[in-house]
Amino acid sequence: MADVVVLGVGVIGLTSALTLEERGHRVRVIAASTGASVTSSVAGAIWFPFWAEPRERVSRWASVTRHWLTDLSRSDASAGVDVLRMLELDDSDQTPWWGMEIEDLSLERAGSRGVDSARWNGAPFGWRFSAPRVDPRHHLPWLEARLRTPVLRRTVSSLSDVVDDRSLGADVVVNCTGLGAGRLARDEQIRPLFGQVVVCEPGTFDPGSSMADERDPKAVFYAIPRRDEVIIGGCTAEWDGNVADGTLPAPDPNLTEVLLARAARYGVEPREILRVVAGLRPYRTAVRVERDAADPRIIHNYGHGGSGYTIARGCAVEVAGMVERGA
Ligand SMILES: Cc1cc2nc3c(=O)[nH]c(=O)nc-3n(C[C@H](O)[C@H](O)[C@H](O)COP(=O)(O)OP(=O)(O)OC[C@H]3O[C@@H](n4cnc5c(N)ncnc54)[C@H](O)[C@@H]3O)c2cc1C
Repeated sequence: MADVVVLGVGVIGLTSALTLEERGHRVRVIAASTGASVTSSVAGAIWFPFWAEPRERVSRWASVTRHWLTDLSRSDASAGVDVLRMLELDDSDQTPWWGMEIEDLSLERAGSRGVDSARWNGAPFGWRFSAPRVDPRHHLPWLEARLRTPVLRRTVSSLSDVVDDRSLGADVVVNCTGLGAGRLARDEQIRPLFGQVVVCEPGTFDPGSSMADERDPKAVFYAIPRRDEVIIGGCTAEWDGNVADGTLPAPDPNLTEVLLARAARYGVEPREILRVVAGLRPYRTAVRVERDAADPRIIHNYGHGGSGYTIARGCAVEVAGMVERGA
């Protein structure tokens, strides 16, 4: 058993902390921001590998997470996870890389008998499969409530300070600080990708089905129902603005109009807008799950881009394996 300090209470930090505790480790969690001010609180958050590399590792982590979330949806409704029927529109009928391990993946062709493709915005193909959808409003508190020790609210200015802090007594520090890792780990490979979603009353949108079209990266569309609302997205844009530590970027009202107009092309016309939120995805050329070369007491787990919810558990299991091999 190891004494572990986990930094960060986004979905990556909390899932890592819970996974380590389940495996018998003593865990302390430290975070600068919590609740609605972390990126993880604004996510869709559906299982789908999106803006995360490299594909081989992402597929493996996504598969582990998919099974974990699916089991959770059956065992505990308060975890905020439900399994939806997902439709992903495509230009190709070749099995996509992310679909290789999905047992119930099936292909539909526009115009085929029984296929309602009138609202596919010209897409020739659609992949149907079941996908767990997480509601961060329930899931993040659910994860946190399972931890044995309350989260310590503190901004860390150096990883080695945490490792050397005798009052914490950590054998290992797991760095799950998302974009904050850019400064803490002096990592120039991580960069923010702006995203915005419009949260609406569901109207007539089917609460059991989700729909997405990522064929044009500049005009991404998705509609993700929750139990009481529907999330309309999306957008993935380079970001060169400034936000104060611990805050989220302001949504762009023009983009809200664009997103709703785009949704209408797919037949999605929700009722009232409940709120509009934006966040910065912590994108890195490769998700970083590895031991620090200079200080092996540090394990990094950040840079999950647009897939934090999709790969959190797979990454956490890998981190736990590293802790155990080194402990
Ligand atoms: C609009 C939008 C939609 C999305 N939709 C999806 C989706 O449908 N499916 C999906 O899988 N993913 C989705 N994502 C991506 C997902 O939200 C991210 O990959 C995920 O939230 C990253 O989680 P994280 O825990 O690494 O980072 P964060 O949630 O940003 O958490 C980082 C934590 O580290 C702490 N921290 C940072 N620096 C310090 C420091 N110096 N000292 C102490 N603590 C520190 C912060 O306070 C915070 O607690 C979406 C993202 C956006 C913006």
